[in-house]
Amino acid sequence: MEWLHIALECAPFLPFLPFLPFLPLPTPPRIGFVSLGCPKALVDSERILTRLRAEGYDVVGTYEDANLVVVNTCGFIDDAVHESLDAIGEALARNGKVIVTGCLGARPETITARHPTVLKVTGAHAYEEVVQAVHEHLPPLHDPFVDLVPPQGIRLTPRHYAYLKISEGCNHRCTFCIIPSMRGDLASRPIGEVMLEAERLVKAGVKELLVISQDTSAYGADLKYATGFWGGKPVKAKFVDLARSLGSLGAWVRLHYVYPYPHVDDVIPLMADGKVLPYLDIPFQHGSPRVLKLMKRPAHAENTLERIQRWRETCPDITLRSTFIVGFPGETEADFELLLDWLREARLDRVGCFKYSPVTGAAANALPDPVPEEVKEERLARFMEVAAAISAEKLAARVGQRMRVLVDQVDPEHGAVARSAADAPEIDGVVRIAKPGRKMQVGDWADVQVTGADAYDLQAKVVRA
Ligand code: SF4
Repeated sequence: MEWLHIALECAPFLPFLPFLPFLPLPTPPRIGFVSLGCPKALVDSERILTRLRAEGYDVVGTYEDANLVVVNTCGFIDDAVHESLDAIGEALARNGKVIVTGCLGARPETITARHPTVLKVTGAHAYEEVVQAVHEHLPPLHDPFVDLVPPQGIRLTPRHYAYLKISEGCNHRCTFCIIPSMRGDLASRPIGEVMLEAERLVKAGVKELLVISQDTSAYGADLKYATGFWGGKPVKAKFVDLARSLGSLGAWVRLHYVYPYPHVDDVIPLMADGKVLPYLDIPFQHGSPRVLKLMKRPAHAENTLERIQRWRETCPDITLRSTFIVGFPGETEADFELLLDWLREARLDRVGCFKYSPVTGAAANALPDPVPEEVKEERLARFMEVAAAISAEKLAARVGQRMRVLVDQVDPEHGAVARSAADAPEIDGVVRIAKPGRKMQVGDWADVQVTGADAYDLQAKVVRA
């Protein structure tokens, strides 16, 4: 479980208080914050913390130092539910005053049955409610002179990259997923608001924007692609227009959670022109049309192999990342073989795979023909073997190439860890630089030459930092 340390981020913005030398300053109320789950939950945490920090709350790093703890939970799969319930239990045992929010908050009875003493349970993206609950149980100090928050808000990611959430919820009803029942239908943020946030982040030093949502390519559909304004110019709330506008900011723009709708083709030329990163995170989930239909996946009827081939023709450098589920109810050996064939032909660059596990409340639980656990295990191993071989071959082909990387960690003794355009933080491989040199710092760009590769990572040397 990760505690969030953000105080330093605000240090340069501490106010100048000229005439109060003899008055004891009131102690700000102190909040502990536990953030679990996916990048979307992380963005929610950032929003809540930004608001609380703006109101003068201190965010502290231990349960014992906090006057109250907020736990932002995940409820996506049963393991995440258990982890969330354990985190709430730990916060209660070590602090006693706990407010719960996030995806699991959509099922308050699950939480209160095990932890009846929590002060309040709110659902996902219920920022106002969480803040209200904090006010109720730990009132803020009133100090109209204090404005502790930098204009870009509080971020929990390192200073050089940031997640940009463009919408909430989802209009699909994939049978294995309960996100729509927790987060509701698609609700896109107005384009002007998204662009303003992106602009502020880049001005504050962010070099990579990671665009996230539940369904990025559907952006703006609920707004009927309404035109907004940014920098005095009209811009449509549409996936491609958004990508083009973000691409004009001068930062890396990485698109996550894109579904293979036909209009996604329009973004590939932007990648070929270097406007947005040639990287698509596109959760295909399976290669068998029958299983995709059982999953009720968006765009399941698309001929994805043909599309991938066309994308590569337009943008040969494109990196395709995807996730898959094996052992979905009803998946036969023939379906699984189809998936392996699909993968061998698609030759995706980055691949994650999960064994299907039932989620309480998901429609897939009612499907017949569950796959036995040992078959799921075996299919997962076979799938990963094929995926790892493809990845190793593709990375080996990059040895000798030069590339630009963004530095995430520097240790002068053990080397630096960086990422290329092909690597999203946390989920993909990295580029290891053995001798980074004394000047290299976290958040720097570096030009490197690839000297070696394994199944997932590259090794490189600096050619010009
Ligand atoms: S597209 Fe499917 S898996 Fe993704 S959030 Fe929507 S319902 Fe869930």
